[in-house]
Amino acid sequence: MSFSLHGLAVSPGIAIGRAQLLSHATLEVAHYVVPPKHIDAEVTRFDAALKSVRDELRALREDSSAEGAPSELTAFIDVHAMILDDPMIAQEPRRLIRERGANAEWALVQQMELLVEQFDQIEDAYLRERKADVTQVVERVVKVLTGQRVKSRKSQDDEAQILIAHDLSPADTIQFRNQHVGAFITDVGGGTSHTAIVARSLAIPAIVGLHHARQILCDDDIVIVDGTRGVVIVDPDERVLEEYRLRKSELELERSKLKRLKTARTASLDREEVWLYANIELTDDVQQARDMGADGIGLFRTEFLFMNRDELPTEDEQFEAYRSVVQAMKGKPVTIRTLDVGADKTLRGGSHRQDPNPALGLRAIRYCLSEPQMFLTQLRALLRASHYGEVQILIPMVAHLHEIEQTLLLLARAREQLRERKQKFRERVAVGSMVEVPAAALALGQFLKHLDFLSIGTNDLIQYTLAIDRADEAVAYLYDPLHPAVLRLIAQTIQAGKRAGVPVSLCGEMAGETTYTRLLLGMGLRHLSMHPAQLLEIKQEVLRCDIEMASQKVQRMLKMDEPEKLRDMLARLNGVSI
Ligand code: PEP
Ligand code: MG
Repeated sequence: MSFSLHGLAVSPGIAIGRAQLLSHATLEVAHYVVPPKHIDAEVTRFDAALKSVRDELRALREDSSAEGAPSELTAFIDVHAMILDDPMIAQEPRRLIRERGANAEWALVQQMELLVEQFDQIEDAYLRERKADVTQVVERVVKVLTGQRVKSRKSQDDEAQILIAHDLSPADTIQFRNQHVGAFITDVGGGTSHTAIVARSLAIPAIVGLHHARQILCDDDIVIVDGTRGVVIVDPDERVLEEYRLRKSELELERSKLKRLKTARTASLDREEVWLYANIELTDDVQQARDMGADGIGLFRTEFLFMNRDELPTEDEQFEAYRSVVQAMKGKPVTIRTLDVGADKTLRGGSHRQDPNPALGLRAIRYCLSEPQMFLTQLRALLRASHYGEVQILIPMVAHLHEIEQTLLLLARAREQLRERKQKFRERVAVGSMVEVPAAALALGQFLKHLDFLSIGTNDLIQYTLAIDRADEAVAYLYDPLHPAVLRLIAQTIQAGKRAGVPVSLCGEMAGETTYTRLLLGMGLRHLSMHPAQLLEIKQEVLRCDIEMASQKVQRMLKMDEPEKLRDMLARLNGVSI
């Protein structure tokens, strides 16, 4: 039977494919008493489920030993097969069925809980983590027992995987970049969570905040994901499928038409020049930035070089990564942000405490200044890369003058160290700050004399101004870029930059949404940085905009307090009749 689910659209596009459930569901199974005459049948049902999963794992292993599959995958399947044959999983539940008349799934989950408790006591961190494997194995068996699995339909070659998870960390999401993933769906998450950002940068449709998708959907269900409208259609009929296939190819056609804009100069109708840059997470992304004709890299989020690994990247490794981006951009500016970990971007094995409130904790520049050796290593690598092109260093989450002063001192020390080593770097490297904490936007005067540029990070600026966690879908409805307080902070930053002759750009998600292009140009911004996938659409919007006219309307908007009126005015600014 076909049905649809609605969530928060965070990465546009349409995907049609088969559901693949990730991570563990809550293993809440029914408990009932099996009458004595049915006990044998219950044990047989249990054994059959184990056999089915055993066969499934064997088939997976054969597939994974095929050429090209990572060896970790094979090892991972072997561990699961061993767990499945462990007496606690394979034997004990049979005893519970026979002696207590328990139903098979309940008996199995009881044993799993006992086993998991034992894992909790283990001191070795690696072994303790195997607890998740136990849960995943039991989950597979429970799915067979409760008939949650849909028989595999005939697969088509072009079918994509629709990954369905309770939540995905940015680290998980980035790991899927090389797989044939059609879309991401998660039960929790907000529109500017780092996971959503990664999905957009991979140009993969994504919907978050679906609440119960993992419970409602089954592996192999045919699913349509409309990442533009936030709709998931499960088990669609042939007519709906046809309609979406058509929409999908129309979208692809539109995208290919946009490609013609790649080499066009970015200027408004009234001939104001505008610069469009790309946000990147990994060095490989630079190719996409070039393909879209970016004027440079406006934000290189270096934290992704530090994630999904146990050791910190060495100076040489970082230097190579930065240099490869700088060289690929052939003289165009490359703004590299120093490590912004904390909140939802965590380092594995790092000295991270359990932060009581991670978004307000030891994040970004605060974390770097508390680990000066690690920070110096990154600064040296950045300076060395400056020898090969136009590197600009960007400091995240600045709120205090002393954070800038300390960073500049460390930068001077990094220069001295490189001089001693006789390593080359450019003497004059621009240093800028993110404006993403309201305190920075309100007290820019004290910072500006030390800085060469500013970059407004609206994702965090909105989070901190409106006091809502950007990753929490329960408050996602309050996340409002049009809130008068947010608009005034942006306007104030632009004005302060203009007065001091310091260039201002904007690199938050607002820069990549066509709804806000005219507003931002009208406010005075001429430098916008976004995911490469959004660049040509934004360019098209700039080409259609009369900035002089837009700025008159925007000045009136900035005096407005009522949200409804602001929204109406924005719609009119964008040429939508209301
Ligand atoms: C921002 O906060 O707007 C920003 C660009 O930084 P990040 O999304 O990486 O926190
Ligand atoms: Mg930020």
